[in-house]
Formats: sequence, structure tokens, C-alpha cells
Amino acid sequence: LMKHAVLQAEDAAVYAAVMGEEKRQEEGLEMIASENYVSKAVLETLGTVLTNKYSEGYPGRRYYGGQEFTDAIETLAITRAKKLFGAEHANVQPHSGAQANLAVYAALLQPGDTVLGMDLSHGGHLTHGHPVTLPAKVYRFVRYGTEADGGIDYDRLEALTVQEKPKLLLAGFSSYTRQIDYARFVAIGKKVGAITMMDMAHIAGLVAGKALPNPVEYFDVVTATTHKTLRGPRGGLILCRQAFAAAIDKAVFPGTQGGPHMHVVAAKAVAFGEALRADFKKYAKQTLKNAKVLEIELVKSGARMLFGGTENHMVLVDTVASYGLSGKEAETRLESIGITVNKNVIPDDTRGPLDPSGIRIGVPAITTRGMKEKETRLIARAIGRMLQISADDEGYGRLVTVLRKEIRQLCRQFPLYR
Ligand code: PLP
Repeated sequence: LMKHAVLQAEDAAVYAAVMGEEKRQEEGLEMIASENYVSKAVLETLGTVLTNKYSEGYPGRRYYGGQEFTDAIETLAITRAKKLFGAEHANVQPHSGAQANLAVYAALLQPGDTVLGMDLSHGGHLTHGHPVTLPAKVYRFVRYGTEADGGIDYDRLEALTVQEKPKLLLAGFSSYTRQIDYARFVAIGKKVGAITMMDMAHIAGLVAGKALPNPVEYFDVVTATTHKTLRGPRGGLILCRQAFAAAIDKAVFPGTQGGPHMHVVAAKAVAFGEALRADFKKYAKQTLKNAKVLEIELVKSGARMLFGGTENHMVLVDTVASYGLSGKEAETRLESIGITVNKNVIPDDTRGPLDPSGIRIGVPAITTRGMKEKETRLIARAIGRMLQISADDEGYGRLVTVLRKEIRQLCRQFPLYR
């Protein structure tokens, strides 16, 4: 484990919790699709003195003095982000993905304007218009879904778009496993004069590593988080055409945020630098391979894949239909053997979000750890066995012990932060 000697001496309670989390990450398998392990360089950058600095504004146009080094850092982050994704403009200040999306809405919409976004239970994100969110109270969100085969019916989407005439047509997802037809999507938006936006939060790293097509080549605006497959610090990113640049920048600051978190902006610059290197392409490709192996092995154990299988870094399993287990039961069972996943709603789920009908399993973090097809197969088999066994089976407790040991041994072979 890492040394945090000063923290240990100064604040034993926080230190103990940090070390507990470090051990949990080290000894367990992180298979939440939105999580990853950042590099030591990114971690170190997050702990620098940049956290002390106020930098409201943008490089060369700040509201406070003393910006020689923060300007250099933000300029590096912007330049690298633009290069990585081939974007005309980048804003690296959003504190998170939700903040990035909020800023785009604030930049491009008037209250009451219509937005077409993907329904949450079909894979969309809360920030794409779920009624519990503030944007849903300000704008008029209409939501589209997926079909029984897991795809999007573009003719239906086109008909809905023509009917609703949205100002913004929004693509992107948190819990969806298939590729979107970007060209078709954008053509549909153009037909009614809508601005087109893709939220690539989940797949940004796969795009950066050129394992998936690049939405920046198609959409007017692309948002992302920097901490998922992109493997940077927690944060948001907005990429857009030059025509929208001024409005987007104004909507981030002062529209929806105050001072940027410059230690995070610096860590984003480091992560973008890492993603520009050749070995990140290998990482992105391996992530897709591992997800496919996970799918194939889980299907052998009786898993019913949602959306007809995976084309990215995650799978969604209908655990009720596959194993007679709720998503929460499946999550708890896997946790008992040291594998962390999340319960997840399935399209038009009849169960509630706290105990839905499925789980989502992702491979970005285990792939960062260096695990390849062989290890993924072993993990998938462990997951299958753990979900197949009846709770009444007298071998249940023994299976937990055996699989837990197997997972811990695997983790020891692929240490973190050494
Ligand atoms: N957009 C999508 C598609 C996401 O999956 C997420 C996070 O899960 C977000 C936005 C929000 O990002 P954050 O949690 O950083 O606010």
C-alpha cells in the first residue's frame, strides 16, 4: 500500500478510512463499468499545491492574479484534449459529467426548449432528462428508447424527432452496450435543424484509444467524463465546434460554475497525455476484447444479455430472467466473493431502482490492472457459478470461500500502485 505518513500523523481517522479503501481496491475486483484506476502520475498531480489556487476565467483572461503556471496547465490540457479527439474547441473546467451536460444545456437552450434524450431504463443517464433532475424542470425532455433486439430504431427516432422538433438531439448512455449510428443520428437532427450532442462519458477512453468511432467527427457538441474509460481524475470535458465555443465557455464559467479545480485540470492534462501514447490504444482494444470474453462466458452460464450483447466495455445482464435473482441479490452475492458490480434497471423495468432486475458489469478497471482474456474468463466463470447456485444449496458457503480465495489470488498477481 502507499505511504501517507503525514496524513497518518495528523489525522488518524481519515487515514484509517483511506487505507481501508486502498486495501479494498487492491484486494477486490472493481467491475463497476464507470470506474477505473488512475496512474500514479495522475494521483500525484491531484495532491499538488494547485488545489490552493483560484483561476476564475480562462487562460489569459482571469479574474485573479498569479496565473503564470495555471494558464500553462490549462492550455496544455486544452491542447491535448483537442489533439486527442480532433476537436475544434475544448473546455476542461467542468467539475463532473453532470456539470458538463448542465453547461451545454445552459449554453444552447432557453427554458422550455425541447430536448430528445435516451430513457434512463434504456441506458440513458439521469442528466439526460430524468424527472428528478433540475434540467428536467427547466427544459422539456422527451425520451426515446431501444427496441426488443437492443438496437435503436432510427426510423422511429426520426418520426419522433420530426414530431417533437427538438432544439437539441442528444445521444449517449451510461448502461447501453451497442454502437450508435452517429451519421444517421446527426442526419436526423439536421432534418429538423436541431443541434446534435453526444455524451460519450462511458466510452471516451475507447474513442481516445481509437477502438470505437469518434463522435467528435459527427456531432456539434460532445461531452465526456474524464474518469471512466479515459482513466483520468474525476471530472468533465466539453468538446465542440468553434461556432459554439464562446457560448459553451460562458455557460461553464460564469454560467454554472465558479473557480475551476486546477489540480484536477492538471491531472486531466496528465491523463490526456497518457491517452495520446501508443500503449493506450492497446488498452482500449484489450478492454473491448475482455468485455466480449465476459459476455461469451456469462452466456454459457445462462446469462441473458441485454441489448443483444456488447460492442463496448460493459455487459448488462437480466439477472431475474437468467438466474432468478434480483439485481440487488446478484450484486450482494458477487460482493461476497470480492467482485464489485452495480445493480441496474433494465428497459422498462417493473422493479424499482434500489432492487432492479439486472446488473451491469464492466472491464475497464480490470483491464488497467493488466488482466487479459485468460483472467477475464476465470472471472466470468466465477461470476456465473456464484449466480447460478441456489441459496439453499448446502455447498453455497463453501463456494463463496473457494471463489473469494480465487479472486483474491488473482488480485495479488495484478497488484495496484506498486
Ligand atoms: N453522462 C453519462 C453518460 C454518465 O454515465 C455519467 C456518469 O455516470 C455522467 C454523465 C455524469 O458524470 P458525473 O458522475 O461525473 O457527474
